[in-house]
Amino acid sequence: MGASGKILVFVDLPDGELDETGRGLLSYSARLAGVLSFPWGAAVAVAPDSGQLNSFGAYGTPTITSITGGGTLLDTPALLGKHLARLAQDELATVVLLPHNDLGATLAPIVAHELQAAIMTEVVTVRQSDDGVRLSRKALGVRIAETRLWDCKRPLVATIPPRALSQVIMATFRTSSPTVSTWHPVTQPSGAAATITGRIPPDPQTVDLTDAEVIFSGGKGCDPATFDQLKELCKLLNVSFGVTRPVYDLGWTGFERMVGQTGRTVTPRLYVALGISGSMHHVGGIKDSRRIVAINSDSKAPIFPNVDEGFVGDLKEVLPRLLEQVKAEIGSAP
Ligand SMILES: Cc1cc2nc3c(=O)[nH]c(=O)nc-3n(C[C@H](O)[C@H](O)[C@H](O)COP(=O)(O)OP(=O)(O)OC[C@H]3O[C@@H](n4cnc5c(N)ncnc54)[C@H](O)[C@@H]3O)c2cc1C
Repeated sequence: MGASGKILVFVDLPDGELDETGRGLLSYSARLAGVLSFPWGAAVAVAPDSGQLNSFGAYGTPTITSITGGGTLLDTPALLGKHLARLAQDELATVVLLPHNDLGATLAPIVAHELQAAIMTEVVTVRQSDDGVRLSRKALGVRIAETRLWDCKRPLVATIPPRALSQVIMATFRTSSPTVSTWHPVTQPSGAAATITGRIPPDPQTVDLTDAEVIFSGGKGCDPATFDQLKELCKLLNVSFGVTRPVYDLGWTGFERMVGQTGRTVTPRLYVALGISGSMHHVGGIKDSRRIVAINSDSKAPIFPNVDEGFVGDLKEVLPRLLEQVKAEIGSAP
């Protein structure tokens, strides 16, 4: 279908850095621009310096619009959302892309309301079809794919989950020298309804495993003592912990900690499987992890062909030593 438009992607630069979410957003936008045959550009709430421009260029960003007064705007999302909507109108953007993190999920409904746009959150894939653009996302604990049709008649606001963004990061062969322009919001900040006073990252001990960054999971190879040591290790390292079905069946954790086909399907940056044999029911739920490491006492355990790094070892020896080392590291940290 021959719809025309532009993609505007809002990129936050935490601590001035183009982080993994930002790099994923730029890579995602470049791909989406190819799928929709739309031009694209980024909006930022800072005046980018040369280092930041090079980072954007590495992902082929054609244009960057710097919103003036952005630093304070980031703490007043209600206002930033209104400004972003106005900027989208000024730039004739028909698609506004945001990350599905705290900031993006707050901005999305505001921008959608201001633009009277269609909204789809946690979009993973986008494809053109004869009757419009099909947007799909994972639903119900990522077990089913939900697809919706965008008819391109109204603008679209879409958020992309960080786990999908981290999987598409790809610097381009054709780096760009982005054209930078400055955009001055018409209205200046005035008594915003809400102000962000700080951002608290999710607690790995309680975050839903589908959103966890690093997971250490224990299987039937754990006994009560090593299982306690595993939980202690997870707390010390500030990572999430999961289990296999037999461990859940023992009543050692709640269902929300069970990983696998009937449990949570997870996509962390690092998955560490301890005393887990590697049944298809478990591996099916972890295979999209970026890196999988396993420790098992049986060198022929089926988990090993499915991992990036495997260690043959007895948890009764490995876990106490790991704990000792981690405690020593923490103790010697400045
Ligand atoms: C319909 C269905 C759905 C299922 N869904 C799930 C699911 O969602 N998630 C899930 O996990 N399972 C699921 N299962 C169960 C699954 O088939 C396996 O039985 C289960 O994953 C095995 O768990 P495990 O690896 O902890 O135990 P085991 O298969 O018993 O493996 C224990 C491993 O620990 C190692 N080990 C033993 N002692 C030590 C030690 N001291 N140090 C180091 N290693 C040691 C052993 O060598 C072994 O490889 C499902 C099954 C069915 C039928």
